[in-house]
Amino acid sequence: MHIFAQGYILMKKKLYIETYGCQMNVADSEVIFSILGKDGYERTTNMDEADVILANTCSVRDNAEQRIWGRLEVFCKQKEARPNVAVGIVGCMAERLKDKLIETGKVDIVAGPDTYRSLPEMLRNLAPERPQINVLLSKEENYSEIIPVRTDKNGVSAFVTIMRGCNNVCSYCVVPYTRGAERSRDPETILEEVSDVVGKGYKEVTLLGQNVDSYHWKNADKDVDFPDLLEMVAMLNPSLRVRFATNHPKDISDKLIEAMARHRNICHHIHLPVQSGSNRLLEKMRRRYTREWYMERVRKIREVMPDCGLTTDVIAGFCSETEEDHQQTLSIFREAGFDYAYMFQYSERPGTLAARNYPDDVPPEIKTRRLNEIIELQGQLSLESNRRDVGKTFEVLVEGPSKRNQDELCGRTGSDKMCVFPGLGHSAGDFVNVQITSCTSATLIGKIV
Ligand code: SF4
Repeated sequence: MHIFAQGYILMKKKLYIETYGCQMNVADSEVIFSILGKDGYERTTNMDEADVILANTCSVRDNAEQRIWGRLEVFCKQKEARPNVAVGIVGCMAERLKDKLIETGKVDIVAGPDTYRSLPEMLRNLAPERPQINVLLSKEENYSEIIPVRTDKNGVSAFVTIMRGCNNVCSYCVVPYTRGAERSRDPETILEEVSDVVGKGYKEVTLLGQNVDSYHWKNADKDVDFPDLLEMVAMLNPSLRVRFATNHPKDISDKLIEAMARHRNICHHIHLPVQSGSNRLLEKMRRRYTREWYMERVRKIREVMPDCGLTTDVIAGFCSETEEDHQQTLSIFREAGFDYAYMFQYSERPGTLAARNYPDDVPPEIKTRRLNEIIELQGQLSLESNRRDVGKTFEVLVEGPSKRNQDELCGRTGSDKMCVFPGLGHSAGDFVNVQITSCTSATLIGKIV
């Protein structure tokens, strides 16, 4: 694209962003595209033509950071070929490793998650041997009025960030240090963004926060908690599917569960990270719930919404984990019957409470063995859960052609299960009713009825 100004043709600069880690980072990259878009940059998905290359990074595990060090070498090759290219590391790893990144001499920009508004200025101030750093954490920044540039390939599903940061300080987690304190966004600006998403033809919105249950906006005339906000979004447009992530077991309320059940367009799916089945380890992790509390929440969800999908996160081999603790994790998986789980072995993150206070003392081969046992169990649970759906009919939002078979379509049920089916005449963004005829542990297979 060109800009015509005073008789000259100015080429827009090209911005390429690689995004790593969670959905929050996907949403943040869309905010960066918006901020730099207003400053004369346009998005490219081709690194070879980019004037600015950014990696929006994640620090949650050591291997996530190792990957970025590897990508930095690839970005440097671009700089060797085209010396005017600017390379930046933004996001959590920028916040955590600012000095180390600058010392490499390979990075021009280091920007933390709360500093994206300063990116245009940082890019303008770039000069040889003068990298730009801004990693200030903010108590207020939530990019409220910025309408992100949507990057979802199919134009079906959009993320809307409702809050930033986290106040929980779980002992293993780096988020409170890289993303700062919790702050909620004005509901008016959230509703404006959701309206914009609907206007652009999106069919599904996911409200994002590190702990959506602690969303709270209060001023002289408004007092809005997460269930209130969720209902406001759901009522904005009854044909818009509404999802959210992530919940915290200590905070998820009856009010939320009941609000979900009241609205047909709020998806019946809850991601409720359990992290461990051992009370001793939950205390050490500073999760501030017990397995009994967790299971009581699961029972409440199932009582109010028997069709609700339930997924989780778990850490295998946290500091001092014994065989007995591990067995308790396996048993809570069986008891809760999760549909899906994100399963990881413990990776110590420097600076966290756990790194400062507890030795990372479970040998790597034991961590791996325990993780594999959890993965194997979850495979069985996912298969059992999918088998229970055979014969049922679900409303599915079509995302596009199936990856394995381009003649078939894929999409998700409200309970967040991936579904594959022959879909002649339908395309991304359509809602279809699919009857399930068979399944694997990962996918429901069906036909449109
Ligand atoms: S709730 Fe705990 S695990 Fe989740 S982001 Fe906050 S500190 Fe990290």
